[in-house]
This record gives sequence, structure tokens and C-alpha cells, in this order.
Amino acid sequence: MFLYWRLVKSRGGLCRTENIDGHQLDIGGGHFFHTKFPEVFEYVFSHLPEKEFKYYKRVSKIELEGSTIDYPVESNLWQLPLERQIQYLISVVRNGEAQGRPEPKNYEEWVRWKLGDEICDNYMIPYNEKLWGIKLSQMDCDWLYKIPQVNVEEVLKYSLQREADVSKFPAHIHFYYPVKGGFQRIVDALAEDESEYISLNNRVTSLEYQGDHWIVNREFETKYIVNTVPWNSLYTALGEPSCLLADFKKIKYNRLMISLYEKQYEHDWHWRYIPDSGKTYHREFYIHNFAPDSREDGVYLESNLERYQQRPLKYDGKLVYEVQTEAAYPIPVIGHEAAIKHILEYYELKGLFGVGRWGQHQYQNADVAMHEAIKFVEKRRKL
Ligand SMILES: Cc1cc2nc3c(=O)[nH]c(=O)nc-3n(C[C@H](O)[C@H](O)[C@H](O)COP(=O)(O)OP(=O)(O)OC[C@H]3O[C@@H](n4cnc5c(N)ncnc54)[C@H](O)[C@@H]3O)c2cc1C
Repeated sequence: MFLYWRLVKSRGGLCRTENIDGHQLDIGGGHFFHTKFPEVFEYVFSHLPEKEFKYYKRVSKIELEGSTIDYPVESNLWQLPLERQIQYLISVVRNGEAQGRPEPKNYEEWVRWKLGDEICDNYMIPYNEKLWGIKLSQMDCDWLYKIPQVNVEEVLKYSLQREADVSKFPAHIHFYYPVKGGFQRIVDALAEDESEYISLNNRVTSLEYQGDHWIVNREFETKYIVNTVPWNSLYTALGEPSCLLADFKKIKYNRLMISLYEKQYEHDWHWRYIPDSGKTYHREFYIHNFAPDSREDGVYLESNLERYQQRPLKYDGKLVYEVQTEAAYPIPVIGHEAAIKHILEYYELKGLFGVGRWGQHQYQNADVAMHEAIKFVEKRRKL
């Protein structure tokens, strides 16, 4: 038997939604559904039919040097004032890669090498330092498939023709969002058949290995366990395994503060990135523009929790509600990949597996976590 565990007030983890005075607030921050995996679409739509979703063409913006331009920045430089456009373009053309310099190994040097100084200094570095809460020079490059791949010819072409080719965008250009009930509606539909196996509000505090089986919280006995929570939150429960201490220390995550405001808006934007280091928050979401059952004046902001605690959040709206996430993003600090590999290999021999965003400690969106779970089950079935 497998044992899965969760500690939740209601089910859904980061994918939870709370209705606050008529606002559908996704309390883990901005959540939208899309996937490149057909089996994930099939899995989700077989539990919550496609007609229960609205399908949107993504409208995401970036606030850059006082202008609001379309995402992604490198395709939309033509929307900046002409003088700045020229400086950005020169810097893209002179990037390290174009000059034949070798590919750097840390994140900050890598983005500078790839995108040039202007995009880095005014967008990529301040935005990412706000989001992650650490210096980019301390981050690995192994997750960089997540960030834009710049083609200098295309950047110049878009600027001259004053239009970008959206089919080449780095991330999903469309997304699904439940017609009602917020993102949590998906999780509720998926959990319905399994509800008798889900125990809420039950933190794992003790995991004892007895040679061929586990005792969880001195209560449940099981041969196998699938962990989907951050490994470092289990270090004590696992009896503080000193042989893995250095690895557990490399398993880091950040946390967010989600702040709900009321404010009138009349555009169709879904969200906007805010790289300005003078502002505490890094993204703002216009809820009614994607959640039709939410009040028309709801906006929420995501801020890195540590940053939020150091500098007060200022926003020109009426603050309604604030909530802190538990673990939000797994931070790819240098050496994290080898560390999680050691941990997984060590425990797999004992029948304790790690799957998903936290189990594998990777930047996985919900669809990727579902895909990893499907793959895991298929692999185990074959054994
Ligand atoms: C700001 C933000 C935006 C995102 N946007 C998107 C998006 O647009 N689309 C998308 O698909 N995905 C998005 N994601 C990713 C998505 O949230 C995750 O992929 C998904 O939530 C992973 O689900 P999970 O169950 O593995 O982890 P989580 O949702 O984090 O759930 C982990 C659960 O484990 C519990 N827990 C922790 N420690 C213990 C313990 N010791 N004992 C028992 N329980 C414990 C926690 O309370 C929590 O309920 C986003 C994430 C963030 C932070």
C-alpha cells in the first residue's frame, strides 16, 4: 500500500482558492491551467469537463521604466520610447553569445550573456531577485529552459516591423481557468473519487523505517511512501539523517505574501510583471479578467515574503486580505540537483519515493507534477 500525505485546511495546497467578499482569491498566487501533455488534458478534463473552463489568450504585461509593454520583453522592445529602444537593441546585439564568449555557469552571468545588459539590469535581474529572494549569482542555470531563448535576428525584426510573432513565445500563449470556483475547482474535481483516502490537517512529524516497512506518526504502517512535500520539512521526522545533512541544506524554497486589494480597472490584462526594485511586489493579477465569477474590482499582488517583511507594501487600492503561502518556489541554488538526487536514491531503496514539485524539488507547474505522478504510477505498475 502507498501512503500519501498532506497538511491542509482544505485540500489543494498551493492550488487553493478562497472566496473573500466575492473575490475568488487563489491563495498560492496566480494559477492558470495549460499543458503540453495530452494525457494531462485527458486526466483533468475527465474529472472537470472542458466546458467548465474558460479558454483565454494570455494578456500579460511588463511594467518597464514607467511604460507597460507586452510580454515577453525581448519581442516587444518596440513598445518602449525610441531612445530607450535603441539602447536596448544595441545591448541585445552586443550580448556575450553574439560575441562568441563561452556560456557561463551561473544564472546571472548566463542571462547577461544571453540577453545583453539592458534587459538584464532593468528586467531579468531585478524581477528575479524580487521573486526568488536571493542573489542570482547563487542560482544554478539548469532550469533555464524556463526563460526566453533570444534570437537576435528576431528581436531586430520585431522592432522594425513593430509586431511580435506570438507563436514563438517562450511560455503558453493560451490558458484555461475554471468558469467558477477559482483554480481550486480543478483540485476538488480530481480529489472527489479519492476523498476517503485523504486525511486533512495531519502533519507528518515522524517517519520510522523498520527494515521493510515504515511507521508514520507512530500510527500508520505502510510498505511504500510517496512524498510530495518539501524534503527539508521532513528532516526531523526522518530522524535527522546526518549522512544527508549537506544535501538537505541545499533543499531551499521561498515563500510568498499574497495581498488582495480592491481597485477599479478597465483593461483586459490578466497579469503584469513588476521588475521595479522600488516596489515590494513582483506580479499583480486582475482577477475578474480571468475569473468571471469574481467581483470586478479585485486585484492581488505576489511579493516574496522576506522582502515583504523588510519593506512595507504600498499599492493604490483598498487592502482587503493577506495570506502567506507555505513553500512556494523550490530555489535552484548551486548544487541542488546533485543534492536531491542523493536524497531520492537513498530513500528509494527503502521504499520512500519523491514525486512532483517538492518530491523531486523541481520548478514543476501543476500539470507537470500531474504528469510526473502519471509516469510514476505507470513505472511502478510495470515492476
Ligand atoms: C506563485 C505560483 C504560481 C504558480 N502558477 C502556476 C500556474 O499558473 N499553473 C500551474 O499549473 N502551476 C502553477 N504553480 C505551481 C503549482 O502550485 C504546483 O505545481 C502545485 O501546487 C504542486 O502541487 P503539490 O501538491 O505537489 O504541492 P503543493 O500544492 O505545494 O502542496 C503541498 C502540500 O503539502 C503540505 N505539507 C507540507 N509539509 C507537510 C508535512 N510535513 N506533513 C504534511 N503535509 C505537509 C502543504 O501544507 C501543502 O498542502 C504555481 C506556483 C506558485 C507558487
